[in-house]
Parts: sequence; C-alpha cells; structure tokens
Amino acid sequence: MRREGLALVISAPSGAGKTTLVARLRAEFPDFGYSVSCTTRQSRRGEVDGSDYIFLSREEFERLRALDHFAEWAEVHGNLYGTPLAPVKRMLKEGRDVIFDIDVQGAQQLKLTLPAAVFVFILPPDIPRLEQRLRQRGLDDEAAIEHRLTNARVEMAKSGWYDALVVNDELEAAYDALRAVYLAGTLVPARNPGLVENILGESPWPG
Ligand code: ADP
Ligand code: 5GP
Repeated sequence: MRREGLALVISAPSGAGKTTLVARLRAEFPDFGYSVSCTTRQSRRGEVDGSDYIFLSREEFERLRALDHFAEWAEVHGNLYGTPLAPVKRMLKEGRDVIFDIDVQGAQQLKLTLPAAVFVFILPPDIPRLEQRLRQRGLDDEAAIEHRLTNARVEMAKSGWYDALVVNDELEAAYDALRAVYLAGTLVPARNPGLVENILGESPWPG
C-alpha cells in the first residue's frame, strides 16, 4: 500500500451532471472504489442491482438501519438511501480511493464518520439549464421536475461547507476541476504516511 485511501464525497442537485462527471472519473481512474448505496426506490431501466444500488424493501432497509449497517442514511424524494459502512471501511483500509454519490444531509452525517473525506458539490450554471438537463435526461414527469427544481434550490443553499464547488457549465472544464480536487486530496501529508521518511532513507517503503 502506497498511501491511505481517499473518500471523495460528491453531492449535486439532480440534473447537475453528477452521473456524467463521476462516470468520467471512474473511466480515467479504474481503480476507484464506489460506495454502492442501499435504496428503497424502484430501479430504473439499465440499473444493475448490487453495482448501481442495492435495491431493498422499506422493511429490509429499516432492519439494517436498526443494526447500524449504515455510515449515514437519509430520505430523499420520498425514498430511503443509505451507505453501507463495512465495504467502505475495507476499501479505504486497502488504500483504495472511494467515490460516494450522496445527498447533502447524508454528506453532513458522513463528515462525522469520515472527517478526512474530501467533499465536493457540483452546481449547474443556472436554474434554466438545470431544468433543461432534467428534461433532456428524460427520467421524470412534469411534477417530478418541479419537485427536483425546488429541492435543488434548498440543496444549493446548503453547499457552503463543502471543500470545493464545481460549476458544471462546460463539461471539460468541470471535469478538469473535479479531477484537480481529487488529485490534490491524494497529496495531503496525512494520507501519505512514511513518504518523507522513505525519501530520507529512514524507513523502507511503505512507512
Ligand atoms: P445527475 O446525475 O446530476 O442527475 P446527469 O449526469 O444525468 O445528472 O446529467 C443530466 C443531463 O445533463 C444528461 O442528459 C447529461 O448528458 C447532461 N449534461 C451533463 N453535463 C452537461 C454539461 N456540462 N453540458 C450539457 N449537458 C450536460
Ligand atoms: P437517485 O435516486 O436519482 O439515484 O438519487 C437521488 C439522490 O439520492 C441523489 O442526490 C443521490 O446523491 C442521493 N443518494 C444516493 N445514495 C445515497 C446514500 O447512500 N445516502 C444519501 N444520503 N443519499 C444518497
């Protein structure tokens, strides 16, 4: 193991481009671990149980929640979502970086469990373009789009505590910014124990 794993927590209002940006990051860095969340929502076309989400009944979710299975959980758009703690801890311990795609409430809870995580919030360039992207995505009816736009304003208003804000206007520029935040996070001294000692010849790698 060369260094400790980095937890990269990404939040965004629905339609801001999080799925697109995370897919690019995972394509460029195939070793990235992904925190597969549990959810009570219905699976969408193309989603794979166990790799996009773990789809559970409400009863099963609540049973696991009572057993402290989740590092954090939240109710989003009427469905329950939670991050299973054990796989995340295992990947970080192995030195793998892990991406979390979770909402603002969950990210705030996760900061208590994983204080060294890097928290990134992705913003749309403006509300009309957010609306346009939600329509273009083609997943929601009119009422759901209105609901998501209202939620988007609430979530964006709570983004001030994140480590980085990435505006997804032009996709290439947004990706470069996200990539830069990630790479900078991997260089923090605390995440590279023994590096300096090794360079000084004081200890064999890894430290
Ligand atoms: P989210 O996961 O945040 O809901 P998506 O990644 O699914 O958002 O993106 C929503 C829609 O916007 C998709 O159709 C996607 O192709 C498009 N999109 C994403 N980023 C951009 C961008 N920078 N410019 C234009 N369209 C974008
Ligand atoms: P979707 O249902 O569109 O995939 O996701 C809806 C929202 O739930 C997104 O904001 C997403 O980030 C969030 N979400 C997904 N998984 C989790 C999770 O495990 N915990 C929390 N708190 N939010 C999640």
